[in-house]
Amino acid sequence: MEYVCFKCKKTVEYKSIKKRPRCPYCGGKIFFKKRPDIIKRVEAV
Ligand SMILES: [Zn+2]
Repeated sequence: MEYVCFKCKKTVEYKSIKKRPRCPYCGGKIFFKKRPDIIKRVEAV
């Protein structure tokens, strides 16, 4: 499973933040779960 850092938008593997929940690139503490269907646009008809 992959996560995306909220601050720098870099992909971080879960195992690398499991022990220490910090982004290895910027030190951010907020992560999103990476989903392939995250870019889904909903348009009002
Ligand atoms: Zn980061």
